Amino acid sequence: MFGECKVAVPAAAAGHPMHLNGAMAEGRGLVVIVEDEPAIADVERLYLAQAGYGVHVERDGAAGLAAIRRLRPAAVILDVGLPVMDGIELCRTLRAEGDWTPLIFVTARDDEVDRVIGLELGGDDYLTKPFSPRELVARLRGLLRRQEGPGTPPPVTVGDVSLDGASRRVTCRGYEITLTTIEFDLLAKLMSSPGQVFSREQLLSSVWGQVDYGAGRTVDVHVAQLRAKLGEPNPIRTVRGVGYAAS
Ligand code: CA
Repeated sequence: MFGECKVAVPAAAAGHPMHLNGAMAEGRGLVVIVEDEPAIADVERLYLAQAGYGVHVERDGAAGLAAIRRLRPAAVILDVGLPVMDGIELCRTLRAEGDWTPLIFVTARDDEVDRVIGLELGGDDYLTKPFSPRELVARLRGLLRRQEGPGTPPPVTVGDVSLDGASRRVTCRGYEITLTTIEFDLLAKLMSSPGQVFSREQLLSSVWGQVDYGAGRTVDVHVAQLRAKLGEPNPIRTVRGVGYAAS
């Protein structure tokens, strides 16, 4: 909880300059925080700085959007209830521009959670206030790890679809396809071993980093979105009662 953290500011983080900008980001990349409550923004900034991220803070949605466009951060921590432009509108604007920077939404109330879930988050995540800043750092690491993937496998082609893990680009019949982080990771997993059938549980644990045996529907929804983007024909095969394969 934030109350506890304000008391126990980590010594290493307390030594960091309060305004880390993109140029000072070292190692893990820059994170833009958009948060209008200064106490929360300060705790988020301290913990992210201590975890090795460069941090830039904005207090309203319009300034946040401008900073994201300008700084091209590795990730964004986005409060939903913000002055000028709220977090949902900011996210929609970015996505409409083709900007898929990973986001972690910070929600304060149940109705905000509902709106965030209604966005059908691609690779994104959300936390509900109050939350532990350690949890925030863990979620951020998970989000970035999912995006980067383990190592960089060589480019692979199955049928009409080519996928390059290094540049995270996908082409289908020669056209580049824009995918969300989750869609890309899902396709990459399926294409990593053409012909192999992956169960929904395997895909959940590999792509989402979780084992929730009730969440198979999540996989189905993302597979459907992926197929819609690739068009027909595409190499994703449904293996009834088992899962999916690329072949
Ligand atoms: Ca707020």
